[in-house]
Amino acid sequence: MANIKIMALGGLGEQGKNMYIVEINNDIFVLDAGLKYPEIDMYGVDAVVPDITYLIENKKRIQGIFLSHGHEDNIGAIPYLLKRIPVRVYGTHYTLSLVEDILKTNKMDVKKFKLFRINDKKVLTFNDVTCSFFNTTHSVPESIGISLQTEDGSIVYATDFNFNPETEDYYKVSYEKITDIGKEKVLAVLAESVGTSSLGRPTDYSSFEYSLNNILNNTQKRVIIAGYSEDLLRVQKAINIALAKGKKIAFIGKGSDRLVNFARNTNYINIDVDAIINLKYIDDNNKNMIEDLVIFVTGVRNEPYSALNRMAKCEDRLIHIEKGDSVVIMCPPKSGSELYVTNVINELYRSDASINVFEKKHLCGTHATNSDLKMLYSMLKPKYALPIKGEYRHMYDHSQVLIKMGYNKENILQLENGEMVEILNGEIVNIEKHVLTDVFINGSLVGGVNEKVIKDRETLAEEGAVIVNVSYDVRTRKLIGDPSIITRGFTYKLPDEQLHEIVSNITVKIINNALLKKTFNLEQLKDVLQNEISNQLFRFTKHRPIIILSILELNKPKNTKE
Ligand SMILES: [Zn+2]
Repeated sequence: MANIKIMALGGLGEQGKNMYIVEINNDIFVLDAGLKYPEIDMYGVDAVVPDITYLIENKKRIQGIFLSHGHEDNIGAIPYLLKRIPVRVYGTHYTLSLVEDILKTNKMDVKKFKLFRINDKKVLTFNDVTCSFFNTTHSVPESIGISLQTEDGSIVYATDFNFNPETEDYYKVSYEKITDIGKEKVLAVLAESVGTSSLGRPTDYSSFEYSLNNILNNTQKRVIIAGYSEDLLRVQKAINIALAKGKKIAFIGKGSDRLVNFARNTNYINIDVDAIINLKYIDDNNKNMIEDLVIFVTGVRNEPYSALNRMAKCEDRLIHIEKGDSVVIMCPPKSGSELYVTNVINELYRSDASINVFEKKHLCGTHATNSDLKMLYSMLKPKYALPIKGEYRHMYDHSQVLIKMGYNKENILQLENGEMVEILNGEIVNIEKHVLTDVFINGSLVGGVNEKVIKDRETLAEEGAVIVNVSYDVRTRKLIGDPSIITRGFTYKLPDEQLHEIVSNITVKIINNALLKKTFNLEQLKDVLQNEISNQLFRFTKHRPIIILSILELNKPKNTKE
């Protein structure tokens, strides 16, 4: 008879920062530790990670953190977590190789941490819990699902998977293992929701391969293929086609080092090393116009597009796209990047090359569709289902799949981040709400940023800044010269001179008035001045820029306290 608690620290009602905890009696099992990139501009915030206060408070009870696969929304918060709680980390070879890479990037000593490589044959025991793994098909190699077997049945974590008929090494589903888990009692399944709304996408790579083949056949010069480095399976499929046609291959982009190194050292990408060409920097004599060349431009987020943009504008150091080249885009824009991507594609068209864009609907999905979920639930037959990973709409659609399969609403737990469900002896007894606050990460994964700083940066970017420098003589109590006004980031209709005049006049007036008074408080003066400048600017421009005041006191007598 077990006491089980399940809670999401991130991943519910959002896309990113997936992190789930399962408590079985006294032991805590952490599933994934991902980050999220801000959906809207949060100035200076590079990423958001889950609130791990609960884990810090209960760190002695943590048995380990189990990683499903090597995507940033599942492993990106690892450095942040390990800095605070250096717990054991379990993952496949590929996933942990990426983790090591991330730790090194964050200047953390890999040797200091306990990283344990597992595979789908491994079985681990922790007190009353047996932990096993099953391989899944996703867009990166060696993705796994996790099963925690308790006295009251298993708890199965199945995030980022599908049941596409994949034959590529490192991407095959272990169906037997899933059915084996389903033969015993399954208490709860935590399965992803993000693919539930993607109807009509291909479920294999055949149409993609067919189109890419045609493009390669009909290109006179070079083929430039842009893809996300996290979509490794798609990159692999494209490499296969290029190799089958006897093409030479070059890699460009920040993500390429990792891809190529992995290909050479660990065979996670199947590629004949003899086919790889190192490009040379462009100068007058060298245009990298090599016969039968296929160039992969890979990276994360907007990186492939910024590289294409440079190539189209002839500003890249390696490739300038020209007539006769073909560009293949197999990285549909992420939400928030659509406008930028449209601009880059327009720029590419100017180069007169042949531009081929695979939209999302043309590309094979990498997440569980409704029918994948149905298949999973048919194999596992859990008592409770917890839709995870996805926005509310995805989780809602996921719940609908379960209802159509005959599940009662009481057995579908559509939770929010921080809601901890308690299951005692196989029955839900309580749902308790923990308050979580997002942690903003600035630059490195070490420290956070508070909301005041973000607010300032936001104002600075949207409203601009006014910097006022003025000095006065403390003895004569008179201003020295005119105030100097500097404006930054202004896009208002008011001409600069007029704006400077307004600010200058207020400054002179207010400081002169203050200097006439018997008592004089600099801090108070700054407050008054700041407010008055802000109000006047708002009157004329309907904007409130950040105002930075620098008031210099000259001829100050010594031993005077400020
Ligand atoms: Zn993933």
